[in-house]
Amino acid sequence: MENQPVMGHQNRNYGTTNPGYVPTAEGAPAMFAPPAAGFSGPSAPPAGMFDSVPGYEGTVAGGGGGFLPPPMPAFPAPQPQPGPEQPQTWNIPSITEDTAREAFALFASSKCCYSSAPVKDGVITSMDAFNTYRYRLETFTESRSTEWSHKPYNGQPVDAFSQPSPGPWDVPAKTPSFFVGDKQVMKVPYTSSMKPCHACVGLGRKPCKHCSGFGNRVCSPCNGSGMQYGGNQCLHCSGRGRTNCSFCHGEGAKQCDTCRGKQQLLVYISLTVKWTNNCDNYVVEQSSGLQVDNLCKVSGKRLFRDSQHLVYPVMGFPDPAVVSAAQRLVGEHQGKYSATSRILQQRQTIELIPVTKVTYAWKGKSHIYFVYGKEFKVNADNYPATCCCTVM
Ligand SMILES: [Zn+2]
Ligand SMILES: [Zn+2]
Ligand SMILES: [Zn+2]
Repeated sequence: MENQPVMGHQNRNYGTTNPGYVPTAEGAPAMFAPPAAGFSGPSAPPAGMFDSVPGYEGTVAGGGGGFLPPPMPAFPAPQPQPGPEQPQTWNIPSITEDTAREAFALFASSKCCYSSAPVKDGVITSMDAFNTYRYRLETFTESRSTEWSHKPYNGQPVDAFSQPSPGPWDVPAKTPSFFVGDKQVMKVPYTSSMKPCHACVGLGRKPCKHCSGFGNRVCSPCNGSGMQYGGNQCLHCSGRGRTNCSFCHGEGAKQCDTCRGKQQLLVYISLTVKWTNNCDNYVVEQSSGLQVDNLCKVSGKRLFRDSQHLVYPVMGFPDPAVVSAAQRLVGEHQGKYSATSRILQQRQTIELIPVTKVTYAWKGKSHIYFVYGKEFKVNADNYPATCCCTVM
């Protein structure tokens, strides 16, 4: 369990511990989206091919089943509770002129045609800090969906109806790593049966489309006449007017792709478990003139991190914009993601992103650039010594 307030008291608590990933015993009946209209095609299996499995009645082939909402928890989830507010002292880092100059030199040298003169000869006249905060909320969810699937029958065990199938949320899945996206596809136990292949009616072979099953086709050089231009016999088909079909090697039939010639299919319900890290950021606007978009590419100094099953919005933070963003995002995430998935863990982070506006004089004029992020990234949209072939 991760709970690392970087600042403040160790006993502060912003949420509840994870009550654990406990599947309910009964498993609420699954809700399904209606099957996609017009779902049919030459290779579409007939609906009668699928058994009716209790708890999976609406499952369709082709992934049209949609998500399965998780069942209600067996016990009410404890509501997140706020921790005691703590006064904070904030240690705002600032960069030195040397750091600013080095970052600027690196920036200019990374651009093929930028002259280094403004870096060498420019004189820094002022440095202003416009540090800003970034609040990040991550909600790690599990979602499940089912669909009817089939594969060529190779002697796999057939277990349909030998026992009742567990509900979609009762099938055990692997333990995911928190905040890392992942996916697992499984057969639902006790749904596998053997059925004749619908695509070849259990023959294992299908007539060749290219020769309509004849095994030969009209000879194209003589267009079926058997004669060449000038009245001689066609050398290509020896005067027969037809040539062997190259697609089926003259056999008129090909192995069925659906069952790969096995004649039978293993038909089963497949369950897809998907883990997703849903992440939202909020950056407090700063008045430096640097576009906020630039800040998504850099990291900052981590001031606070809190990871719980369900977090409580951060409180008592000096910037009220961060507090209200936290309240809004926590409310949105808990409402949105608990409706369609199971929330396994949440994490909220506050970073301080250093932004320094550097003003310097070069050739009698004043210019600016920005140094931002822990990486000391530079933005200088109005660099005074570029040339026309510059690649930005
Ligand atoms: Zn011919
Ligand atoms: Zn053919
Ligand atoms: Zn087949």
